[in-house]
Amino acid sequence: MAIKHFEFNNQKLYIQGTPIDRLAQRVGSTPFYFYDRHLIGKRIAEIKDKLSKNFCLHYAVKANPMPALICFLSRLVDGFDVASAGELQLALDSGMAAENISFAGPGKTDAELRQAVAAGILVNVESLNEMYRISQIGLDANVQPRVALRLNPDFEMKQSGMKMGGGAKPFGIDSELLPSVVEVALKLGINIEGVHIFSGSQSLQASSIIHAQQQSVALLCKMKRYFTSDLKTINLGGGFGIPYFENDMEIDLDELSAGLNECGEKIKNEFQNSKIVLELGRFLVGEAGVYIAKVIDKKKSRGKTFLVLDGGMNHHLAASGNLGQVIKRNFPVVIANKAFLKEKEIVSIVGPLCTPLDTLGSDVEVSVCEIGDYVAIFQSGAYGLTASPQDFLGHPIIKEVLI
Ligand SMILES: *Cc1c(COP(=O)(O)O)cnc(C)c1O
Repeated sequence: MAIKHFEFNNQKLYIQGTPIDRLAQRVGSTPFYFYDRHLIGKRIAEIKDKLSKNFCLHYAVKANPMPALICFLSRLVDGFDVASAGELQLALDSGMAAENISFAGPGKTDAELRQAVAAGILVNVESLNEMYRISQIGLDANVQPRVALRLNPDFEMKQSGMKMGGGAKPFGIDSELLPSVVEVALKLGINIEGVHIFSGSQSLQASSIIHAQQQSVALLCKMKRYFTSDLKTINLGGGFGIPYFENDMEIDLDELSAGLNECGEKIKNEFQNSKIVLELGRFLVGEAGVYIAKVIDKKKSRGKTFLVLDGGMNHHLAASGNLGQVIKRNFPVVIANKAFLKEKEIVSIVGPLCTPLDTLGSDVEVSVCEIGDYVAIFQSGAYGLTASPQDFLGHPIIKEVLI
């Protein structure tokens, strides 16, 4: 699966014509992450090609906030969604217009709201308290805040890795409270220019995403009369997943886009002046990133073979299964400079940390390898380094490169 996106030559992983050992020399140290800009560009072109012109494509910065990557993406997507003032700065630094940046998150501080209001970006307000605060901040700064309401819908996305809406959630305002919230906004003189619904993520089932989006559309239509002015932005979230594990199927992009395009038509019929936004994170960058580490020891313990790498969960918490995975399964992994040898062995791949949690692969079959070889972990372009406890045990900070 994931590995198929990359080129191999003489057993070696090549990245745009450069063999992995040469790339490691040019980076200067292991471990490191690399992100392949061609793969990211291809993925974005593919989605844009399949989705109707009714949709704008945004990137959720938290999936991978590497500054060079954000600059690269700023020319390919229509907007950025940020979740902190730090991400806001990255988005603005990239040259993305403030108009096309939105800010979601359940715990925005006054300081962050002040920065967002001054920048002129769209703030997805997630509670009544936040509405009062942003109103006051707007008054103090003498700037009209740009506000969208993040709604917590009354349904969830089935068959998704992460449920972000439905039931009791810290995210957004319960949809049934919309009428009273609109009343408060009116009193405060706040114009609600957008709606945001993010029901779930990491779904590989096109039908589940479509079903959730149909419910979002129905909810919006039902609530239409509460929006006092024309809605400028309808942000439907995203939730497109990528296959991490054996037997995970890739999402069917044809089926998905056909279903979404129908939703887009329905929205356009009801809300002629709205732009419809899909915000994707991992689907845009996840498959284009690889974590590379070096084998520093190979040992046997009571019949089991261990490859000990120079990095582990401190750089790649997700691959260790400790970032919200219920059953620990292996990310796709190869020996990057001896990918497909006939001689194979079953190994456990561990990092240098003194904890059994630091396991990046359990009982995986790989080519027989030696100390000094490179291990590549695929599907690592999203929720990698910045979602990992890099300081844990005090190893050096590692590099990320955009190729
Ligand atoms: C995290 C997040 C995303 C991106 O999720 P992916 O699973 O990476 O696609 C999109 N929207 C919001 C509001 C988020 O919090």
